[in-house]
Amino acid sequence: MSVYDCIVVGAGIEGSASAHYLATNGQRTLLLEQFPLPHSRGSSHGQTRTIRKAYTQAIFAHMMEEAYPMWSKLETETGTELQRTTGILAMGVNKKGYVAEVKNALTSNGMKYTELNSKDLHDLYDISMYPDSSAIMDPEGGILKSGTALQTYQNQFIKHGGVILDKTELFSLEPGEIIKLHTNRGPYVARSVILCLGPWAGRFLNKLGVQFPLKVALHDGPVIDPDRRDQVENDWAIKICSEFVKDVFPGLEPDPCIVEHCIYTKTPDEHFVLDKLPLHPNLIIGAGFSGHGFKLAPVVGKILGNLAMGKASTYDLSQFRIDRFQRKASL
Ligand SMILES: Cc1cc2nc3c(=O)[nH]c(=O)nc-3n(C[C@H](O)[C@H](O)[C@H](O)COP(=O)(O)OP(=O)(O)OC[C@H]3O[C@@H](n4cnc5c(N)ncnc54)[C@H](O)[C@@H]3O)c2cc1C
Repeated sequence: MSVYDCIVVGAGIEGSASAHYLATNGQRTLLLEQFPLPHSRGSSHGQTRTIRKAYTQAIFAHMMEEAYPMWSKLETETGTELQRTTGILAMGVNKKGYVAEVKNALTSNGMKYTELNSKDLHDLYDISMYPDSSAIMDPEGGILKSGTALQTYQNQFIKHGGVILDKTELFSLEPGEIIKLHTNRGPYVARSVILCLGPWAGRFLNKLGVQFPLKVALHDGPVIDPDRRDQVENDWAIKICSEFVKDVFPGLEPDPCIVEHCIYTKTPDEHFVLDKLPLHPNLIIGAGFSGHGFKLAPVVGKILGNLAMGKASTYDLSQFRIDRFQRKASL
């Protein structure tokens, strides 16, 4: 049986970016996906995702400084438009809360932004917020073409010698110097494994004895089982969004013309999990992208790929550790 340098499990944006990074670094890499590709059962499908530096946490604003040129490089290499700059408004009703935190994060990273008050919002954008509202305009914010970006990463991975097997579900694995993966297609072996299982991460990791409280939710809605997502009633969420648009953006049509469902995987602190298992450093976990992981995928792929290759990261990964939720894991 041939031994891969790395097997990445999960062909969402995080697994695909990780597999691409490994292949471009000369690693013999296999990417496994349980569903037929492309699919809309996880978190990475659909038309667009926002891209921005306007974060409340300085670490993510800082990581975006590396992510932007990586997205641009992918665009240039493939001649594919993946992002469109529109500017993004981070708005809040209390100057001391969210908006102030975004401002601090951008200031501490020396980034450009413009501050606006509720009158500016009204005069410039026809937005009717409360009188004490304020906003930060992040001029580099915009949209990423998510479906195209996912496909582009997978195409480039194959172009660099990577192999994708869809309809291949990982059932279990045996840790060791060479890790053995058991799937519906039979066993595969590799020197390192990256698990990017999206909403299925918590369940699989629990089977490995790694306990952490991953919540799968419809935005901030009910906890769901990713295999039973279509049985959740969500008309209330559409109603809340429509009413917000009606109140705040009087120039827009409040009812959505298209409704698409997608699921988030949230950690309690909304930070990612980017770590190797304490007792098995060749088993790497990328999980809990908490509704904001798409734009950071190039950097996430680099971090996870470097962990798999045993290379040091340029980022302080302590806040992404897997054992921050529970210090006692059996692996
Ligand atoms: C509605 C919505 C809006 C969002 N908006 C933004 C935004 O504006 N900006 C932003 O940056 N981010 C945004 N996000 C978040 C971002 O899309 C996610 O963080 C990101 O897509 C997570 O990717 P992933 O690869 O971790 O998960 P997924 O895309 O779910 O991929 C995981 C993959 O693993 C596979 N898998 C699971 N278990 C197994 C197994 N046992 N064997 C084989 N394969 C398996 C699954 O089938 C799936 O394909 C949004 C998310 C949603 C849902």
